[in-house]
Amino acid sequence: MYAITDLHTHTDYSHGKGSIEDNVRVAMKRGLQAVGIADHGPGHFFIGIGGAHAFRRMKEEIETLRHKYPEVEILFGVEANIVDTDGTIDVSTDILRELDFLLVGYHKLVRPRSLAAFWQGARNFWSGWMKTSSASLRAANTTAITSAVRRYPITAIAHPGLQIDIDTAELARVCKEYGTFLEINSSYGSELDPYISEALPTGVRFLLSSDAHAPERVGDFFQAYQLIRRLKIPLERIVNLEK
Ligand SMILES: [Zn+2]
Ligand SMILES: [Zn+2]
Repeated sequence: MYAITDLHTHTDYSHGKGSIEDNVRVAMKRGLQAVGIADHGPGHFFIGIGGAHAFRRMKEEIETLRHKYPEVEILFGVEANIVDTDGTIDVSTDILRELDFLLVGYHKLVRPRSLAAFWQGARNFWSGWMKTSSASLRAANTTAITSAVRRYPITAIAHPGLQIDIDTAELARVCKEYGTFLEINSSYGSELDPYISEALPTGVRFLLSSDAHAPERVGDFFQAYQLIRRLKIPLERIVNLEK
């Protein structure tokens, strides 16, 4: 089992520790065919990319690196946040046009776009803190993320089920219909098992990624490989393994 691409890597444009070039060099060293740069969307209060000018700088930097390192494909993406109850994400259409791929993930502490989104975020924060669950909140979260899948050309949903309570089976059904992958994120251990197990019967396909926040973790799929073995996921369901 050998993954040939790692789309979900962070740099110091959000809260990763290294530069884009650092990630590219590790990707080459590990023999990846492609590496993606997917920093956090600008809607996060603390760790997001600093607006349109930062996206422009990233794009220019990636163009330069593509000439310097033709051996590896460098893809420009983002890990966008959901910022409204209707699935709106924190990346504008203008910026989306500049990207090669789009990851969307639920995160806490994102800037809400409406009062309803503010209350939903507040309820999620509270229930996460108090370790309580609410069927209506779960349904509202599921509606938002499945609406995003229907509205945007999302490559993969990052770490489905983590942080925010959703109906993962429903998300997986919509993802299968729209050709969106679910991520198997190698920065988490067995806590992902229940979500991936729920998604399995739907036939959705999976994308492995490291979610590296430091260059040395680019292409590190150790925990993802363990999860695949543990849950006996058929390898043909994973889109970025060497065939
Ligand atoms: Zn994330
Ligand atoms: Zn991430």
